[in-house]
Amino acid sequence: MHYHIILTEYCNSQCKYCYEKSMKEFDNGLDKKFKFDFSEKEKFDLDLLKDLRNFIQKDKNPVIIFYGGEPLLEIKTIEKIIDSFNNTKVKFRMQTNGKLLNETPIKYLKKIDKILVSLDGTKERTNYNRGKGTYELVMKNIEKIKEQGYKGEIIARMTISQEFPDIYEQVLSLIKSGFSSIHWQIDAGFYKFDFNKEKFKNFTKNYNNSIKKLIDFWIREMKKGNVLKIYPFLGIIESILKNQKTKLRCGAGYEGYAITQSGKIIACPIMTCIKDFEAGSIKSSSPNTLKKFEIKGKCLNCSYLDLCGGRCLYWNYSNLWPDEGDEMICETIKFLIDNLKNKENEIKSLIKNKTIKLKDFNYEKYFGPEIIP
Ligand code: SF4
Ligand code: SF4
Repeated sequence: MHYHIILTEYCNSQCKYCYEKSMKEFDNGLDKKFKFDFSEKEKFDLDLLKDLRNFIQKDKNPVIIFYGGEPLLEIKTIEKIIDSFNNTKVKFRMQTNGKLLNETPIKYLKKIDKILVSLDGTKERTNYNRGKGTYELVMKNIEKIKEQGYKGEIIARMTISQEFPDIYEQVLSLIKSGFSSIHWQIDAGFYKFDFNKEKFKNFTKNYNNSIKKLIDFWIREMKKGNVLKIYPFLGIIESILKNQKTKLRCGAGYEGYAITQSGKIIACPIMTCIKDFEAGSIKSSSPNTLKKFEIKGKCLNCSYLDLCGGRCLYWNYSNLWPDEGDEMICETIKFLIDNLKNKENEIKSLIKNKTIKLKDFNYEKYFGPEIIP
């Protein structure tokens, strides 16, 4: 299974859709819905290393994802965790803002063979969302680790804010900058205060048009033999081509969990202070005894469930937006699925005439890209 390890609650960025929004949301009403526990430690407690080892080694196929806050603020902890699993089958991934990649010893980075780096598209867009100079710094750091011999997969992890629906232009700019692996999530439904019907309606219309253009571009690249790892497309098309039903695609609460700074195990890394999502503890649980969580509510009656999976466990349980807002989010998901389904025959022909292979659509599940934006 996949385990996000929360190394610290601190971050060295103050992004618009994370830090700024969390500062604005004073009362989202979730205290009436869930039980909270704010006693979590600030940083991952290295005294837990033995318990972590014991727990992880009971897993047949364990993957550790370094996560925060910003995980690279705790480089020494990362080194100690990697060292403690030396000569084991544990694999490592990381989700980072990339600002400290240049300070991370390459010997350790090379053990982390997939890194999600937060970038939102062009220099202008990234810096607007994430702060002046962020894009330049992160790109320089990526260049540096590549020069040092980093050969793993680097995935540009975009956040699409409701102000900017131009996903096509932003993804293309990342591809031009050298990325062939891209994922995004729409910043919608995660805060109570930020739903504005007219604004979001306008967003969905323009976003859907842009998605259509991006799918056409993806297919054009396939015709040249190049299957770009645009994760939301990859995940859905893989299921369509292999005729597979999916559960919640991020894996939260059944294939993926978060391990907190004090060793609690929670369904997903953004729910670490919500007791309702506790699944066990590295001290007393084993991977096969962890509590499992299922999507509920309106998703269960949705005809898209087998391909969508339910978008997000937190969103599904917390219901922060009104129904009409959630329905608008679902319209973007249905549009995406329908437009990918429309390409099924074309993609099958490209596989049949050997321009591309079915295995080009294989990807590791649950390591970070949630697939459904
Ligand atoms: S489209 Fe919406 S309602 Fe349907 S399964 Fe996905 S998230 Fe749930
Ligand atoms: S999609 Fe939702 S439930 Fe899944 S990992 Fe992301 S925040 Fe957690």
